[in-house]
Amino acid sequence: MFNINYFIDEEMEYGSEESDSAGRRIRDVSDDSSDSFSLDEIPVPINNTFDVTLPATHSYLGPNLEELRGRTILDDGIYMNLPLLIKQTVLFPGQTLPMTIFNLQIIDILKNCIKNDRTFGCVSYGSPVIHQIGTTAEIYEYREGSGRNSFHLKAKGRQRFKILRIVTPEHNKILANVKVLPEITLGPPFLDQRLASLDHLRVYPDLEKNVKKQERIENLDAVITPWPAWVYRQYDPARLSMKIRQHLQFLEIRGGNVPKDPIGLSFWVAENILINHNERLELLRYDCAITRLQREIKYLIEDKIYVCVQCETLIGRQSHMFPMNREGPQGTYVNPEGVIHETITFYHVQGVALSSSSPSTNYSWFPGYAWTVAICKRCSQHVGWKFTATDSNLRPKVFWGVTRRSLKDKDIRIKKKD
Ligand SMILES: [Zn+2]
Repeated sequence: MFNINYFIDEEMEYGSEESDSAGRRIRDVSDDSSDSFSLDEIPVPINNTFDVTLPATHSYLGPNLEELRGRTILDDGIYMNLPLLIKQTVLFPGQTLPMTIFNLQIIDILKNCIKNDRTFGCVSYGSPVIHQIGTTAEIYEYREGSGRNSFHLKAKGRQRFKILRIVTPEHNKILANVKVLPEITLGPPFLDQRLASLDHLRVYPDLEKNVKKQERIENLDAVITPWPAWVYRQYDPARLSMKIRQHLQFLEIRGGNVPKDPIGLSFWVAENILINHNERLELLRYDCAITRLQREIKYLIEDKIYVCVQCETLIGRQSHMFPMNREGPQGTYVNPEGVIHETITFYHVQGVALSSSSPSTNYSWFPGYAWTVAICKRCSQHVGWKFTATDSNLRPKVFWGVTRRSLKDKDIRIKKKD
């Protein structure tokens, strides 16, 4: 479809200081020595003292980043030319994207963006070459590295777009003609056909008791429509959001900041739940929060098991995820080589071994914590890092960051305990 011979592949190189080079000794640290899917309840760490707003500042990129003020909002439906960066990850509106770039051509493109509307397009590798739907990213902070050959920036995912035509398919310099996609919003399902005389009794169905009240009124509304009320309720953004938030209560209790509005919530869930790349692309394709939320509920109903992408050794489960970043249990971070890791934080993992090198605070994504590389016990695939507090007052003392690309979900579903 898109005839591009070259693409930007700064993320294609996996080799970095994380990969445990052959010959280095490793330590087995998993609590569970068997390979069976042991599912004991592990207590959630309490009395956390870590400031969860810190990781979202990406302070490891260094101090004194130039701050850009204001915000660019592109009109829905407009056609425009947008420089594209191709990533292995999927960027959703609302998501923070930190980047370290060494490629001079890309640095030029980004400097140009900063002079204009600060916006570039972010698309994923896909079939045949790149995915047609992407997200605009707005740069809000940047800094030139020492030696002028590196560039650090932080950008925010803003609006979805569709690629219509590639204008310049040059090496590393792809310009595309795109259409900014509107987000379709629908009001409550009974907005047009309702008994107006009952309006004074209506409540917003955000809490359990309000849901019951509202349902009684909707049952009356439905009398003048062709379908029973429960059919309409499946398309009610407020009710879908409430259901999702009930499933995510375990994160809110642990300090996660789950958005309340249906659109923000639908993108937040897409960013934070561990689903595979194609499922995420599918969620980005939807034009409406209702469809996104309906699909996401299916992913959240059961507790999921995550295994090593290579050998299927059990690594973690969904209910052991917890947020160490105000933005959610998943954070997008960049390492000194410019490799982006979408990192999910767990308070418990198993089936992993640690590299024997001593913990390092260098470039730590979680200020106050030192990291040690963790690999799969069975196949030695790099799975993430163990983070250990360097200050004895810091809680949790230990947690795990697992990189999304090392995990896949296993089709063993465990019904959640209510
Ligand atoms: Zn493995």
